[in-house]
Amino acid sequence: MFARGVRPLLDQTDLRAELEAHYDLAPSVELAEEMGDIYARMDRVVPPPDWAMHAPYVAAINRLKKERNAVVLAHNYMTPDIYHGIADFVGDSLQLAIKATEVEAEVIVQCGVHFMAETSKILNPAKTVLMPDMEAGCSLAESITAEGIAEMRAQYPGAPVVSYVNTTAEVKAASDICCTSANAAQIVAAMEGDTVIMTPDKYLAQNVAKQVPQKRVVWWDGACIVHERFTPQDLRDFRDWNPGLKIIAHPECRPMSWPRPISPARPRASSIGSAARSRKRPCWSPNARWRRISRTPSPRSSFSAPATCAPI
Ligand code: SF4
Repeated sequence: MFARGVRPLLDQTDLRAELEAHYDLAPSVELAEEMGDIYARMDRVVPPPDWAMHAPYVAAINRLKKERNAVVLAHNYMTPDIYHGIADFVGDSLQLAIKATEVEAEVIVQCGVHFMAETSKILNPAKTVLMPDMEAGCSLAESITAEGIAEMRAQYPGAPVVSYVNTTAEVKAASDICCTSANAAQIVAAMEGDTVIMTPDKYLAQNVAKQVPQKRVVWWDGACIVHERFTPQDLRDFRDWNPGLKIIAHPECRPMSWPRPISPARPRASSIGSAARSRKRPCWSPNARWRRISRTPSPRSSFSAPATCAPI
């Protein structure tokens, strides 16, 4: 929809000048007030002065969507102005991929990283799929290529390859089956043979290995730069700060990030929902994606800023 390199949009002088030649994007308190119904969806986390800056962009993009017959698919980790103000559909990468099969619009704008847009294009070859920022990549997806899969196959002859959805189309094509974090253990358990190769996330593989002891799980040495940042010490510090804390960890976090026997999160969306609904204890999630928790009605949930993924 927009030219490449929109990160961070409001700080990029050149891009801003280019956009302002076509759209009135000056901060506007009047427009912010006019768009109060949209702001009501995010007023708990976006201060009014910020909304006065975002509102002209939100209005322009929503107008463009209609003109271009486009839909916006936004990942859960998008900022609140996008998530609540622009997105037609929100979800994790799997939910967005499924949604992409149902859209009738001619253009899909994927607010996420490359592999998500690629997945939408695979599922919708006749549609135009756009990314707002061509530099929005995923460290995990970029950690392996089809050659890497071939290396693993050579090292473990006959072992099936299970690749996480956070991979390029090239890697998916070279694998035997694709999994999500929600069904990874189930899929590994169902594979034939004693040994299963998992790519590209070593932490997801190590966590699955614990859940499926009947298989020998071997893995590619890839990791998400965001999830890898959380350490057991971080969690100990948070527990010291609040002994009643309930911690939810995504399976992409290091296994040792679980200092107590807490379960890895299972289906992502429901985990987000249960965290948000929790009335017993505050929640803290070592997961970049769950910034959405900050957008839920529960004042007892918190998130771990400043950990954010590339496109933000
Ligand atoms: S959070 Fe990590 S795994 Fe997810 S898209 Fe960003 S870099 Fe990739």
